[in-house]
Amino acid sequence: MKGITKVSEHFWIFEEDGVRSFLFEGDKRAMLVDTGFGTLRIRQMAAELTDLPVFLVHTHTDRDHTGGDKEFKPIYMHPSEMDYYKDRLPRDCHMEDVQPLWEGDTIDLGYWRFEVILTPGHTPGSIMLLEREKRMLISGDSIQDGAIFMFGPGRNMPAFQCSLEKISAMADAFDTIWPSHGNYPLKAEIIPGILKGAKDLVAGKLTEQEPPEPMPCKKYACEVASFLYHFDA
Ligand SMILES: [Zn+2]
Repeated sequence: MKGITKVSEHFWIFEEDGVRSFLFEGDKRAMLVDTGFGTLRIRQMAAELTDLPVFLVHTHTDRDHTGGDKEFKPIYMHPSEMDYYKDRLPRDCHMEDVQPLWEGDTIDLGYWRFEVILTPGHTPGSIMLLEREKRMLISGDSIQDGAIFMFGPGRNMPAFQCSLEKISAMADAFDTIWPSHGNYPLKAEIIPGILKGAKDLVAGKLTEQEPPEPMPCKKYACEVASFLYHFDA
């Protein structure tokens, strides 16, 4: 599925074959969260929706989130993500254009105010963005009801569990969760289910299934999501 969904005033979603990016319009500038696979003309799509300058923030930098990066400067991400990004640097992108976003930083757009929360595990520098006044959480890939990729370089299951515990402790600050994959919006009640699933996975309690397409991992479904994971021999 591809297309633009207007969620509310100053908030749009770009859907692109299973991954989504978010555009938030503020008073003087607009923030794009991730750029998808790169098959959308996301810079132009954003420009058709807002006259304000658009800057880019990454929840994390797996390739399904960085495909349109070359059209943006600077590119903001947590410093813990920078080496991961460098290893997968999208074509025509340069590390000189990458700028840090730290834990606790506030991205103040006027109408929107997002707090940066470091939630490593899915990738080393995955972040979530919390809008306390509007009680929304942008969760990237770490909280979703689809398949959570947890195999290969950069994944860290203990860190993932710690991050879910951390965000779980903040769950009274948001009503809706806006993930990059799967259904949306989700409610905070899904977080304990994902955390339990991650613990059950590591404990060998989830049933091994074949992945949806050939990948060096297996699929493990819990009650609320699934994990693509590889047990080290
Ligand atoms: Zn993703």
